[in-house]
Amino acid sequence: MRHIAIIGSGPAGYYTAEACLKQFGDDVRVDILDRMPVPFGLIRSGVAPDHQAIKAVSQRYEAIALTDSVRFVGKLTLGRDVSVAELLALYDDVILATGAPSDQKLGIEGESLPGVVGSAAFVGWYNGHPDYAGLAPKVDGVDAVVVGNGNVALDVARILAKSPAELDGTDIVAHARERLGTAQVRSITILGRRGPHQIGMGAKELSELADLERAAPVIDTADFLPPESDAMLEAGHRKAVAELRRFAEASPQKSVPIRFRFFARPVAISGAGQVERMTVERTLLGQNGGAVGTGQTYEIPAGLVISCIGYRTPPIPGVPYDDQLGRFANVDGRISPGLYCVGWARRGPTGTIGTNKPDGYRIAEQIAKDQPEPGKKQGRSGLDALIAQRDLDIVTFRDWQKIERAEIERARAGAPREKFTAIEEMVEAARG
Ligand code: NAP
Repeated sequence: MRHIAIIGSGPAGYYTAEACLKQFGDDVRVDILDRMPVPFGLIRSGVAPDHQAIKAVSQRYEAIALTDSVRFVGKLTLGRDVSVAELLALYDDVILATGAPSDQKLGIEGESLPGVVGSAAFVGWYNGHPDYAGLAPKVDGVDAVVVGNGNVALDVARILAKSPAELDGTDIVAHARERLGTAQVRSITILGRRGPHQIGMGAKELSELADLERAAPVIDTADFLPPESDAMLEAGHRKAVAELRRFAEASPQKSVPIRFRFFARPVAISGAGQVERMTVERTLLGQNGGAVGTGQTYEIPAGLVISCIGYRTPPIPGVPYDDQLGRFANVDGRISPGLYCVGWARRGPTGTIGTNKPDGYRIAEQIAKDQPEPGKKQGRSGLDALIAQRDLDIVTFRDWQKIERAEIERARAGAPREKFTAIEEMVEAARG
């Protein structure tokens, strides 16, 4: 029997478990460990609450979780409750699928002022992640600045812009719905350090800004190259730029403008004890395609700054780490004998949920090549002995199903669930 431990129960973790079942059939046992008492990682706490169709992929992960060969071990923290060395001694293979849950820093003056937050924190807050449930960002009447031109920036701007009615039917947590619903931001500025041709946003995601109840996109046509230049873009990207052009041509009459500012790079944040403004430098597109500063700066009002500029994988003691790239040092997912990484922990924060599927399948094939025959490892029984010896209070998949039922039962009318936002509440529901 081959024993595999996967650390992290998000899309990368579950697709890898699925791939291991396909690769090794009945001869494998997979334990999926997570520091949270609830599974599904980014699906639960990253994907926007108004994107329920994307979240439905968790049903596929549930089917994997309910096979006898796969087990969920929640509320177990690698590096604190159990070490990588201990897992390597117990399992044939240890696969890190820990994602990239830490915010990349802007690295500019004033970044630590209250009112400046990263997207991991802001998204975690409205999605009810226990780490960020207490964030309570000031939104009432503020000019919000969202830094970055990727889909995360769009998620953040859209959730900030939506009215309470538009948040019905979503699983945004009560504390965020109340704050965002009753208070309205004055404006939203989306800042891109390069131009419309360099956005990472998708056409579909952009189109969701088109018909909002109280907010509408505003774009200066001067930021665009002539329309013929769009022909050089790849088809999907061309569609996204076409959406931007449509926004630029429209003249919406809505109370909250969502201003796209291109060729604008944040250089400093300032305010008296709280963010009040951002200094922005005008940029040009350099020869290598990067943003080049012009030295010309201007100020924009900012009562809330949310940087959506990428993420890092937190290091784990004893695991080689590439500090520059912000993820585990690896070659095609291999870290060291028996130790692998997948998903964002391997390749950085790029791609869609589905990108993790081929990633997981590649690692399962790699493992089969690296170690055609499993060793005589203890696997599950060894981990259970450690858990008992350390008196750890873990959460199983059946426990999670109780938590889920409780979240569904307490949902407001029309909403799919009302998530628990504290670990203690989750554990109480699991034991209840
Ligand atoms: P992203 O697409 O890489 O966007 C990051 C943005 O931050 C880029 O515009 C980048 O500009 C900018 N940036 C980086 N450093 C900066 C700095 N120091 N100052 C100013 N701007 C800076 O990443 P993401 O939005 O975090 O999304 C991560 C992945 O998840 C992406 O693959 C995304 O498509 C996916 N996702 C998908 C959805 C969906 O609904 N489909 C939702 C959320 C996320 P440069 O381009 O100039 O580097």
